[in-house]
Amino acid sequence: MIGVCVLGSTGSIGRSTLDVLARHPDRYRVISLAARSDVAGLAQQCLQFRPARAALADPVAARELAQQLRTEGCSTEVLSGPEALAELARDSDAAVVMAAISGAAGLPSTLAAAQAGKRLLIANKESVVMAGALLLDAVRRSGAELIPIDSEHNAIFQCLPPVWQVGQRSAGVRRLLLTASGGPFLDWPAAAIGTATPEQAVAHPRWSMGAKISVDSASLMNKGLELIEAAVLFGMPPDDIEVLIHPESVVHSLVEFVDGSTLAQLGSPDMRTPIAQALAWPERIPAGVEFLDLLKAGQLNFRAPDLERFPALALARAAAQAGGLASVWLNAADEVAVEAFLAKRLNFGDIPAVIADVMDQFSGGQSQDLAAVLAADAEARARAVQGIAAPHRLYRLGGRAP
Ligand code: NAD
Ligand code: MG
Repeated sequence: MIGVCVLGSTGSIGRSTLDVLARHPDRYRVISLAARSDVAGLAQQCLQFRPARAALADPVAARELAQQLRTEGCSTEVLSGPEALAELARDSDAAVVMAAISGAAGLPSTLAAAQAGKRLLIANKESVVMAGALLLDAVRRSGAELIPIDSEHNAIFQCLPPVWQVGQRSAGVRRLLLTASGGPFLDWPAAAIGTATPEQAVAHPRWSMGAKISVDSASLMNKGLELIEAAVLFGMPPDDIEVLIHPESVVHSLVEFVDGSTLAQLGSPDMRTPIAQALAWPERIPAGVEFLDLLKAGQLNFRAPDLERFPALALARAAAQAGGLASVWLNAADEVAVEAFLAKRLNFGDIPAVIADVMDQFSGGQSQDLAAVLAADAEARARAVQGIAAPHRLYRLGGRAP
C-alpha cells in the first residue's frame, strides 16, 4: 500500500486526486488531507477516506472540523495553522505528496515534501515559479521524485525519455511547445476583454478549475507562469519555449527534437489523466477519464498567441528572461491583481497594467533562500496594492481606472 498526502484536497485538483485514489483502494491509502477553511468539504472527505490526520490552515475552521469529526465518531486527528501543512508533507507514512494548494501559500509545504524525499506530484505551479532553484536543489539532495501535474508539463514529461532528470535539458530536445486553449476571451475584441466580469473570466470553455487559475487562463498569465515553470523543470531557456493557441485542448503539449521528430501527448481535457500518470509512473492505472475520440474531435487547430490583447504572456516571458527574483515579483503582483479583480475592485484589463507597474519597480536580486523569496513576495505584493490604490499610475501604463 502506498500512503498519499493530499494538500489542497478540497480544491479542483484535490478532488480529482481523491477520485483517482478511490478507484484503487488496493494500491493507495490516504494518510492525510489539508485545505484552508472548507470545514464541510474536508469533513466529508475525512469520513470517506478515514485519513490518520487532517489539517486546516484556518485555526477557527480547524476547531470546528475537530468537533464535527468527534460527533461523527471519526478518529482523524485534526491539526491547524500553516505549519501543519508542512508537517503533513513530511509525514513518514506518506510516500507520495500531492501539492495542490493554490498560490504562494503552497510554497512551504511543497518545499517540505521535496526536502523529505517524497514522490512529489506538483500541481502548485506558483511554488515552481517562485522558488524553482530551491525546489530542484531540495529534490537533488533528498532524492525526491518530482512529477509535474500541470497538463502541459505532464505531457512534456511523458514525451521525454525515462533517463531524463528534473531540472536538466534532455539531450536532443530543440524546443518545447506549450499549448494553450486561449481561454474564454480568445476571440473577444480588446475593449470587451478590458471590462469582462469575474463570472465571464471563470467560465473556461474546456477545463473546470479553481477561480485563480481560471482568471489566469483568461488573461494568458497562466501560460506565462507555465512558461517559467517549464523553463525550470526542463532546464530550457525561455527562448526555446514556444506557446501555441490550440482551442480544442486535445494536444496537451509537444517536444521538438533535433532530428525533426515532434512528440505530443493527447487526451481528453481531464486532470485525472496526469494525476493517475504521476501516481503510478512508470506503470499505468485507469483514471476514470473519457477516452479520446479523434473522429469526434474532427479538427485540431493551432495559432500564435495575440500579445496585444493578452499582454500578460509577454510580461511573463520578460520575467523569465530577467531571471532571479523577477518571477517572484510577477507571481505576487498577479495574485494580488487577480484577487482584486475577483472582488470587483479592478477591471480585467487592468490586471496586466498592475503587473507591469510592479515589474517596472523590480529591483533585482537572487532567490538564494526561502527568506529571500518570501521577502520579495511581500515587497511585490505591497507594490501591487499601492498600484491598485493609485489608478492614475495604471492609466499611464495603458489601463483604465476601475
Ligand atoms: P482550487 O482553488 O480549486 O483549490 C485550492 C485548494 O488549496 C483548496 O483545497 C484550498 O482549501 C487550498 N488552499 C488555498 N489556500 C490555502 C492556504 N493558505 N492554506 C491551505 N490550503 C489552502 O485550485 P485548483 O484549481 O485545484 O488549483 C490548485 C493548484 O493546481 C494551483 O496551483 C493551480 O495553478 C494548479 N493547477 C490546477 C489545474 C486545474 O485543472 N484545476 C490545472 C493545472 C494546475
Ligand atoms: Mg496547465
